[in-house]
Amino acid sequence: MKKLSFKFLSGLLAAGILWSGTPNSGAADERAGKRVLVVTVTKGFRHSSIPTAEKVIGELAAKSRAFTVDYVRNDQEMAEKMTADALKNYDGFIFANTTGILPLPDKEAFINAIKGGKGFIAMHSGSDTFHGTNGIDPYSEMLGGEFETHHAQVGVECMVQDTTHPATHHFGQSFKVKQEEIYLIKNYNPMKVHELLVLDKHPNDKTPGHYPISWCKKFGQGRVFYTSLGHREDIWDTDPDMKGRVNPVEVSQAYQTHILGGIKWALGLEPGDATPQTK
Ligand SMILES: [Zn+2]
Repeated sequence: MKKLSFKFLSGLLAAGILWSGTPNSGAADERAGKRVLVVTVTKGFRHSSIPTAEKVIGELAAKSRAFTVDYVRNDQEMAEKMTADALKNYDGFIFANTTGILPLPDKEAFINAIKGGKGFIAMHSGSDTFHGTNGIDPYSEMLGGEFETHHAQVGVECMVQDTTHPATHHFGQSFKVKQEEIYLIKNYNPMKVHELLVLDKHPNDKTPGHYPISWCKKFGQGRVFYTSLGHREDIWDTDPDMKGRVNPVEVSQAYQTHILGGIKWALGLEPGDATPQTK
């Protein structure tokens, strides 16, 4: 009987059910108590990779047991789960391929919540969200950069700028992606972010230069992690048999480790430098 109930409890833990309540004593308990809200609402272009992204983040949460996830997939859920008061239910927010001007019930409260110590994580078109019409939008200021444009999908070699950060320590010196839609970023200042992945040449015409792909930064007491990778399903998903796969499974495995490391870092679960390398 004792053995059975232990098994039952373990099952609940694996499902991420038991420790989603208030944190209690002990580091392990606190870790499992981190709650993350995954936002996939779009008001502009809608990526077909969104269901894949939702699935993968859920799997990473369950497998790592580092955090539990809740989702905001439409305006109704955003209105309910993202009020100034409801934001207190979460330790971090993931904007996975969001686009456009999102109907946040209280945008200022949201940005202040991150500034106050929560984690903010965004993938790919998370930077194609809330564009400023008059100067830089506070959201882009928080993120540290903003989508400008992209050209045809290409293969790139992303140069690792921090070989010890949890989001990049598994890459070695570079991360080669066989095919992806690579963003060009504007309103970006390397003196305000800690760079994680960059290109040393233009993704398409290959002219030498400095093109940010992924970075992290402190925002008040909060932590921000961004990666512009995440357009294609086969970047997110490790299923070897998925339809239309071009990127090798190893690329998606490395991508998942990249975002899991970034999420853990943004939640304060793993240490990592956030000091800008450019003075
Ligand atoms: Zn895209």
